[in-house]
Amino acid sequence: MLDKAPNGKVSDFLSALDKALSAGEIEHAVDLFHADCYWRDLVTFTWNIKTMEGKDQVRDMLKARLADTKPSNWKIAEGEDASEADGITESWIQFETEVARGFGHMRLKDGRIWTLLTTMSELKGHEEPVGFDRPMGAKHGAERNRKTWKEERDAEAAELGYSRQPYCVIIGGGQGGIALGARLRQLNVPTIIIEKNERPGDSWRKRYKSLCLHDPVWYDHLPYLPFPRNWPVFSPKDKIGDWLEMYTKVMELNYWGSTECKKAFYDEKSREWTVVVQRDGQETVLKPKQLVLATGMSAKANMPKFEGMDIFKGDQHHSSQHPGPDKYKNKNAVVIGSNNSAHDICAALWEAGADVTMVQRSSTHIVKSDSLMELGLASLYSEQAVQSGMTTAKADLIFASLPYKILHEFQIPVYNAIRQRDADFYKRLEKAGFLLDYGDDDSGLFMKYLRRGSGYYIDVGASELIANGSVKLKSGVDVKRLTEHSVILSDGTELPADLVVYATGYGSMNGWAADLISREVADKVGKVWGLGSNTTKDPGPWEGEQRNMWKPTQQEALWFHGGNLHQSRHYSQFLSLQLKARMEGIPTPVYGVQTVHHLG
Ligand SMILES: Cc1cc2nc3c(=O)[nH]c(=O)nc-3n(C[C@H](O)[C@H](O)[C@H](O)COP(=O)(O)OP(=O)(O)OC[C@H]3O[C@@H](n4cnc5c(N)ncnc54)[C@H](O)[C@@H]3O)c2cc1C
Repeated sequence: MLDKAPNGKVSDFLSALDKALSAGEIEHAVDLFHADCYWRDLVTFTWNIKTMEGKDQVRDMLKARLADTKPSNWKIAEGEDASEADGITESWIQFETEVARGFGHMRLKDGRIWTLLTTMSELKGHEEPVGFDRPMGAKHGAERNRKTWKEERDAEAAELGYSRQPYCVIIGGGQGGIALGARLRQLNVPTIIIEKNERPGDSWRKRYKSLCLHDPVWYDHLPYLPFPRNWPVFSPKDKIGDWLEMYTKVMELNYWGSTECKKAFYDEKSREWTVVVQRDGQETVLKPKQLVLATGMSAKANMPKFEGMDIFKGDQHHSSQHPGPDKYKNKNAVVIGSNNSAHDICAALWEAGADVTMVQRSSTHIVKSDSLMELGLASLYSEQAVQSGMTTAKADLIFASLPYKILHEFQIPVYNAIRQRDADFYKRLEKAGFLLDYGDDDSGLFMKYLRRGSGYYIDVGASELIANGSVKLKSGVDVKRLTEHSVILSDGTELPADLVVYATGYGSMNGWAADLISREVADKVGKVWGLGSNTTKDPGPWEGEQRNMWKPTQQEALWFHGGNLHQSRHYSQFLSLQLKARMEGIPTPVYGVQTVHHLG
């Protein structure tokens, strides 16, 4: 029989919290938190994405925000039961604020809050038209000169951006821009997505031809429209491109393909952007109130500069420009770098019959795909998780409920287990000379992703080629220079080369702000991404959340959106609500806008 005791415990606890908050008794409320506590708020109290760590930060936030927020109606979420295990009581919760409905998750330790997640589900009076409120589509009755759905869509497409200005412009129509655009459409926020490629999905189509998603299907759903149950586990890049194109169409997005944003600037007085775009060869000026850069976190290529690149006679390009292996059969290929793209490209070149050498400058974290899926992701994102009743929304929220400050503590045992399970594999790679790491604190792939967005390969086969010598490896060296037909390494080795691929990664997204807006604005908002963990490529001080992503920045009305498919799906909800609230004139006093510590 289901143990209902935890329900009683959580209900009583939420009543006490409700009472203290409703009465404005901040000290009583703070008393309900454990000394070791984390409150992660996605927009409900802070109009920000922010984690309060410890009772002092909880107190400070409540002092600043409780009176306006007016939270109420805290209870166990409808249809849910609290549970208890290993001394932790946990529960899905719901609550309201003055302007919104919220959903969240709570863990109690020793009868007090250890972790609390509060997220905004919807703004009161501005709910999405779903269920009983879904649009009729057909207009029953008879009416002269009535417009069909298609005529209305065409009219909207013709006027938006010309005779009527959008409230929001999203620059970049990859999955990030598309997911956010879909949410804004449901919230009735007039939006145009600007994309320099011709078709939605092209940012995937244009990547090297062997690419398949490294993340599994359960992790990758877009908002509103999950992949069908027969969708492959690892989507080939052109297939995901087609899905995005279909999605853009059926979600009725105003998507301007073959359109490049050339320049943007913000008028602080009129609080309006001027966005200059080139559409089908014609310059058009848009005047939105909000500007979102969804230009890609893995899109601003880091191209190294080596002596001799100008005299090299073969092909050379950044990995993002790599066309695929077809014309390199029997050629000498040198791939600079040792992360995901480098491995995928090396394997495809080897398959095509090229003589391939990977140049590894510093250590890389490798994790076998099946180990990552089984030990790292399966409890939340897998067929087993689905079968046991886990939904994508719940998985996203459970993940969001783990505070970044201690996330590595949950990750270290996972990667220790992976190291044990695949000990033999790692031994063989090291024997081949490959420099391995598991993250600065052994917390593995996901922390590397959140901290620096690089430094790993999810092994789907290339590691075996390195272990058995099919792909040659030069490690612990750097490129010294290029000659007309070779690459000279820092240890003096000369590698003959017909092709050099620079799989050297991508730069911070505020580089896009520098290109499109100004250096001044790019510096004002500072580095994008990373947690301030004081680990390699993620300098401190501690930020507590991803820098600048999905939340207000130091530049009014400028936002950054993107990340992997999971993040695009999950965080587009909170960014869209922040934008909608501003459009509706709902006060959005932001608590704790981050201070900028690094320029890029
Ligand atoms: C090799 C590789 C493998 C990856 N594998 C995965 C994976 O398995 N799963 C996953 O979730 N993620 C993966 N990623 C990360 C991937 O980059 C992102 O998930 C995804 O592409 C990000 O989507 P986005 O919309 O944020 O950016 P992008 O897809 O990069 O889209 C940005 C768009 O902005 C456009 N743009 C830029 N500047 C302008 C301008 N001035 N005007 C108009 N348009 C502009 C670009 O043309 C581009 O289409 C991978 C990345 C790479 C490089």
